[in-house]
Amino acid sequence: MRYWEGIVIHHSASPSATWQGTFFNKINADNIRQWHIEKGYGDIGYHFVIDRDGLVQAGRNLELTGAHCRAGQRNHKSIGICLSGNFQHESPTPYQMQALLILVKQLQQKYAITKNMVELHGNVVGASTLCPGRFFPVSYFYSHIN
Ligand SMILES: [Zn+2]
Repeated sequence: MRYWEGIVIHHSASPSATWQGTFFNKINADNIRQWHIEKGYGDIGYHFVIDRDGLVQAGRNLELTGAHCRAGQRNHKSIGICLSGNFQHESPTPYQMQALLILVKQLQQKYAITKNMVELHGNVVGASTLCPGRFFPVSYFYSHIN
């Protein structure tokens, strides 16, 4: 089993859903995989994606180095979790936050990840990004993990 020492939280910086004609399509790991492949990443950069309804999808194989945060060697050190939506414009849904907390706690337990290594992308030293957005509920999130 691969060893991970941290987790980095992201938003997709995209809508959480789009209208395709008469269909309301939630943005999910398949869409993000396609965007990342178009960018030349080879596969989705995140290990997990959480859609607006709180569905957790596997992204990149958890045995593989990610492509989500170059700063601080986090692609090598940390699991990447992406919530779909642009939290510069809207908040994550309660379903997303609930699913995120459960997933983070599970991963912390599995890999013995300490709270100080559960990071928001923009807080990683050397990262220059607003990700996961100003409406991500930072204090709520950290008050619910150990
Ligand atoms: Zn990010």
